Amino acid sequence: KKLGIALIGLGGYATNQLAPALLQTQHIELRGIVTGTPSKIPVWVEKYKIPEKNIYNYDNFDKIADNKDIDVVYVVLPNSMHAEFTIRAAKAGKHVICEKPMSVSVKEGEAMIAACKKAGRQLAIGYRLHYDPFHLEMMRLSREKVFGEVKLVEASDGFRAGDPAQWRLHHALSGGGPLMDVGIYAIQGARYTIGLEPTYVTAQAFPKTDPQKFKDIEESLAWQLYFPNGAIANSFSTYITNVNRLYAAAEKGWFELNRAYGYKGQEGRTSQGPMQITPINQQAAHMDGVAKAILENRPNNVPGEEGLRDMKIIEAIYASMAAAGKKLKIG
Ligand code: NAD
Repeated sequence: KKLGIALIGLGGYATNQLAPALLQTQHIELRGIVTGTPSKIPVWVEKYKIPEKNIYNYDNFDKIADNKDIDVVYVVLPNSMHAEFTIRAAKAGKHVICEKPMSVSVKEGEAMIAACKKAGRQLAIGYRLHYDPFHLEMMRLSREKVFGEVKLVEASDGFRAGDPAQWRLHHALSGGGPLMDVGIYAIQGARYTIGLEPTYVTAQAFPKTDPQKFKDIEESLAWQLYFPNGAIANSFSTYITNVNRLYAAAEKGWFELNRAYGYKGQEGRTSQGPMQITPINQQAAHMDGVAKAILENRPNNVPGEEGLRDMKIIEAIYASMAAAGKKLKIG
């Protein structure tokens, strides 16, 4: 049996990554769309054979409760809309996959988890890298202490944000700058490559080179996570240049990914040589992994609680940045 999924928000990620990946999935298939832009509908109908009865807009979306074709709703909207649509989908009795960051605050994240729990439905976050073989290898090398205990992680993620009109640069829609958008991958990488939860943060903002374009959000920042065993992660995120790396220094060696957080093109190396890993379609693996957990009635690997841990760290990073780098406890 395959589950049916509906995508909400037919932007770049849904159009170019998720929908094509759903042609490769074994346990879940694309059956519905939710869009505020009617002109997009004909292309999706033609390409993915979406029946008229499975097409919704943001106003009539709640009627999806009566639609037996749809088991899972995937929220792929700007960050500030994640909480509303996750909670509406749960109330409609659907399982939810919600993109990262799960929300724009800890409070919203908690409300999303509570809504899915109350509805008896699963909540999964769009953390595709938990299903990527390169990242699974970083986790294994750490967990099995192949090079001893990890002491230091350097994890950075950034890119050059072009169009000044895009929602990512506007706090009301994004909830924050590069930290919310891609820095979250560096937080994730540090957490699963050290294999513990950080307890303290420090963070530093940098002077803006384009204060007009980035008037609403940080342009670049650095932060440090402190782990209970003494390990430290040092990270950088920015909207002005490409940086994309996950490096772990352990007692007896090191292991790293370059182009770490992309959809493809990862390069993995350890102090003993290159990682021999065959890349896969991350989005297909992620959605199949979540679907399999739902079908087998067991928790998925990327639950709401996993998203909430990152939201707590993000709030602590912003608070430390606002307090001139003061060391703050997380949570
Ligand atoms: P996008 O700008 O390409 O698409 C956003 C969609 O939301 C568009 O279809 C747009 O029409 C719709 N929308 C509805 N109301 C809007 C409003 N008020 N303002 C702007 N757009 C509005 O963005 P995207 O890159 O597809 O990102 C969507 C979500 O997916 C974000 O939360 C982002 O963080 C996440 N994302 C995740 C990954 C990943 O690798 N997991 C990659 C890209 C994006």
